[in-house]
Amino acid sequence: MRINVSNSGLEFSRIVQGMMRLKQWDFSTKEAENFLLKAIDLGVTTFDHADIYGNYTCESLFGEVLKINPSLRNKIQIVTKTGIILPDKEKKRIHYYDTTKSHILESVDRSLNNLHTDHIDLLLIHRPDPLMDPTEIVEAFLELYKQGKVLYFGVSNFTMQQFNTLQSKFSLSLVTNQIELSPYNLDHIQNDNTYFLLEKNINPMIWSPLAGGKIFDASNEKSVKILSALKEVSSEMNVVEIDTVIYAWLLNHPMGAIPISGSGKIERLKNAVNALNIKMPRELWFKIYEAALGHDVP
Ligand code: NAP
Repeated sequence: MRINVSNSGLEFSRIVQGMMRLKQWDFSTKEAENFLLKAIDLGVTTFDHADIYGNYTCESLFGEVLKINPSLRNKIQIVTKTGIILPDKEKKRIHYYDTTKSHILESVDRSLNNLHTDHIDLLLIHRPDPLMDPTEIVEAFLELYKQGKVLYFGVSNFTMQQFNTLQSKFSLSLVTNQIELSPYNLDHIQNDNTYFLLEKNINPMIWSPLAGGKIFDASNEKSVKILSALKEVSSEMNVVEIDTVIYAWLLNHPMGAIPISGSGKIERLKNAVNALNIKMPRELWFKIYEAALGHDVP
């Protein structure tokens, strides 16, 4: 299933494959190619990166696949991010954010080079920067757009105000806000961001839909309670896999979420795709929501 992201003309697969853990998966280039081909067979054609993933290694590992199989490039969409600087003890560098024009331009050039591509489909500002100068970010965005290096722009982890501040200076539309949301983490429902996105007709990309695997942790009291509700819903709906139930819970929200699966196992990506046609009754949606809240709704 495809989605025209926020009606912008940018076409993504409704389920996106996240590449943050690519280094951890320890794939050979051939194995990584195989993973991509299987994802594409499942209809998952959009891949989410950031310059910093795998301590600045994941984009290059992915780029190696495009190097041996360049024909893949026009079958997929690439998202990447900029704005975070990771600490480096040897260089005595601390962890900080940089959303200056020069950093954005340099980081995109590095991403293009690492990914072995001449364009990025969607570039996101990775995290809100307390020193963000929207005018400067917009200058960088427009330069990248005019050069054809980046086709669409968005943000990640932004509040409504931060989104509005950047959008107010930008002549193009920010097409998404990539936010964390799962039954384990309701922050963006509780801070009203989901209502804001609905008002603006913006489809959010959803990171850590399974709370990075934490939702399956039997030693975590909060997870155990949520898991128990998920199991009840799974048996009531005859949906075997718990992760499929979680994806269905996200996809049944009217904001048109675009979940990013972070697993390196193709069977788990299949579980996400299997959620695409599930209609979850409102009462069962609330069963999961109330377990996530830790109490009934008032
Ligand atoms: P996730 O899908 O919530 O978590 C994936 C992790 O959960 C993997 O380690 C996976 O292990 C594990 N897992 C899945 N099913 C499991 C099960 N049944 N039992 C135990 N563990 C299980 O997503 P995520 O990786 O945290 O995030 C997804 C993507 O979002 C990332 O790749 C990245 O692209 C993006 N992201 C963005 C931001 C941002 O700030 N914008 C932040 C974080 C992530 P296996 O590989 O073994 O299945």
